[in-house]
Amino acid sequence: MSFKEIIGQERAVRQIQQILRSGRIGGALLFEGPEGIGKRTAAVELAKALNCMELGPGALEGCGRCSACERIPKGVYPDVRILDDVAQAQFLGGGTEKQRNLRIELVREISRELERKSLEGRWKVALLDGAEKLTPEAGNCLLKILEEPPAKTLFILTTSSPLKLLPTVLSRCQRIAFRHLAPAVPVAELHRQDQARLSGGGTVPSETRMEPESREGVEKILWGRLGEVYGDWVKDRSRREGPEEIRRILWALDCLKRNAHPGMVLEAVRQGGGG
Ligand SMILES: [Zn+2]
Repeated sequence: MSFKEIIGQERAVRQIQQILRSGRIGGALLFEGPEGIGKRTAAVELAKALNCMELGPGALEGCGRCSACERIPKGVYPDVRILDDVAQAQFLGGGTEKQRNLRIELVREISRELERKSLEGRWKVALLDGAEKLTPEAGNCLLKILEEPPAKTLFILTTSSPLKLLPTVLSRCQRIAFRHLAPAVPVAELHRQDQARLSGGGTVPSETRMEPESREGVEKILWGRLGEVYGDWVKDRSRREGPEEIRRILWALDCLKRNAHPGMVLEAVRQGGGG
């Protein structure tokens, strides 16, 4: 993965890279927004940028090839801890079904770990995925750490429900909003409208009518569909058709960029071309 592959979150990625560029890093960031749109991935990418061995300090993203970049996403890099209910289950035991809340023991463990000197990285990063699950006790414990964060340490909290966090914790975080992906218009729906238009147009309600020939219109539809397919695939990576359809839509967008006729591009996608 890379920042470029996080679809539809250009603004959030820009903000993250501005932070990297400014060098004012440290304390806590809160990535907020709906589930399945790239918050956790962005946090991992940020941790890679901060610790990439190939590109060194000041990188705006990780190289993706060095040993740090390879280990960080797998959760086996000693200075970047990814903490969520799964990690808590491993750490505290009891199976994932018992981990509905993130408990104070987990936060204490992070705190102990952050006080140790970093082993290899330039930055110690603790990613708390699903921070809305922190119990009030755990939240207060986290607050104490955030009040005096250890040097060269960054907390990244992700949440779909910022209002469930303690206001005192929220006030300590620099917040970055990840937005809802544009509502998707399935290609099949466009096809239906297209057909209706060709046969007289009377059956298409005006609010859903589009101009299939317009480059902008087709682009919008493809981006919307891409967001939808990607979102589904992030939620359930066993869906085999996800990557295929993503490839097909990216191919179509590329054709559009290279000035292919929008109508023909859509037709090709409908026929399953470019996959
Ligand atoms: Zn790297």
